[in-house]
Amino acid sequence: MNLEFNEEDLKFKAEVKSFISKNLDKNTQSKMDNGHHLSKEELVAWQKQLNNKGWMAPNWPKEYGGTGWSVTQRYIFDEECGAASAPSALPFGVTMVAPVIIKFGTQEQKEVYLPKILSSEHWWCQGYSEPGSGSDLASLSTKAEKTEDGYIINGTKTWTTFAQYADMMFLLVRTNTDCKPQEGISFMLLNMKSPGVSVKPIITLDGGHEVNMVYLENVKVPRENLIFEENKGWTVAKYLLGHERTSIAAVSRSKKALAKVKKIANLNINGDKSLRDDNRFMDKVTKCDVRLQALEYAELKGISDDVKGIAPGPEASMLKIRGSEIQQEITELVLEASGYYAYAYQPNAMDMGNNEALIGPDWSSAAAPKYFNTRKTTIYGGSNEIQKNILAKMLLEL
Ligand SMILES: Cc1cc2nc3c(=O)[nH]c(=O)nc-3n(C[C@H](O)[C@H](O)[C@H](O)COP(=O)(O)OP(=O)(O)OC[C@H]3O[C@@H](n4cnc5c(N)ncnc54)[C@H](O)[C@@H]3O)c2cc1C
Repeated sequence: MNLEFNEEDLKFKAEVKSFISKNLDKNTQSKMDNGHHLSKEELVAWQKQLNNKGWMAPNWPKEYGGTGWSVTQRYIFDEECGAASAPSALPFGVTMVAPVIIKFGTQEQKEVYLPKILSSEHWWCQGYSEPGSGSDLASLSTKAEKTEDGYIINGTKTWTTFAQYADMMFLLVRTNTDCKPQEGISFMLLNMKSPGVSVKPIITLDGGHEVNMVYLENVKVPRENLIFEENKGWTVAKYLLGHERTSIAAVSRSKKALAKVKKIANLNINGDKSLRDDNRFMDKVTKCDVRLQALEYAELKGISDDVKGIAPGPEASMLKIRGSEIQQEITELVLEASGYYAYAYQPNAMDMGNNEALIGPDWSSAAAPKYFNTRKTTIYGGSNEIQKNILAKMLLEL
């Protein structure tokens, strides 16, 4: 495989670096650096900069407003965003539902929704999981009953990330109970302002509000909001999950976070000693570094194959498992380095402006909440146990 960037790629790398340094708000960058939450406005402001430049949708075909970048250019863009602590565009619209609309949507659905995703006018959320239906998604029971001009939906969705801000939800509903579970599911688009939709926060261990319960009581959805065919939602859902998993390895962000751990290790925290003198700590840092480098090469190998037209195999699951484990390891290292500054309960530590009440250096203020928050990475996007099942089936031909 050829891992060298050509001259054109290097020119592109310089262009991305310069764009980020000129356009990324410094306050947003510093929040990202210290692991603090961004507000909806801050994220949307950055998405608008990307859209003005025509860089909001690297994964879309050019005819719909995509960048037309090569796979290598997309990799460079992600790498530079990670290195500069630039936020990623919210995935639910641009990375998840948009490819579905492009592949399965009608011309009208494309015209209505795609421009609003690019302009950030629509904030999307994902309504797949239900109480009792997570890994076993096909068992979902939110029901859509057919009416003359559409459907009436009743049920509960859970763990819905950022539903509190969302204008639209893409969701899976049951439209037939008289068949195999997978064959009675449909994929629909729902306006979150519809009567009968209520959103209740789930406050996570880190004290943050990212996820929600969403209750749907006699919610009317017009027929034109059905994607693809009725009862063919499982095909659409599987297509979408493939997109979710490949974007989850977060190599460039982990590289940045691990570089920060190395900086912390060089600080003189305990009088004249630094963590660099602690062999046990440095052993863990080095192990994590080696695993991260191996992950990066696995990702580059995938890109190199993609350029040659070789379809991805079990790599998507491998990248998800190892990428999410490394994200967790890094938060464990920062927690260990923070020592007694890593309070177990600091409800607002990840919100900017609440730091005055905290003690300890800036880099440790969000250590404990970030550690707790990052437990999610091995659960969402298909839990790591489920990924291992997929790997076993594909590689061991079980
Ligand atoms: C922070 C966060 C954000 C999320 N955001 C969203 C969102 O926006 N929209 C959405 O729809 N969902 C979202 N989810 C839900 C997520 O997709 C589910 O939590 C996940 O699919 C696991 O389902 P579950 O929680 O029901 O656990 P379960 O499926 O009940 O699993 C419990 C445990 O059993 C293991 N397990 C289950 N089945 C098997 C098996 N066959 N073999 C081996 N082990 C197994 C699992 O790995 C897990 O460890 C989010 C979750 C989190 C934590």
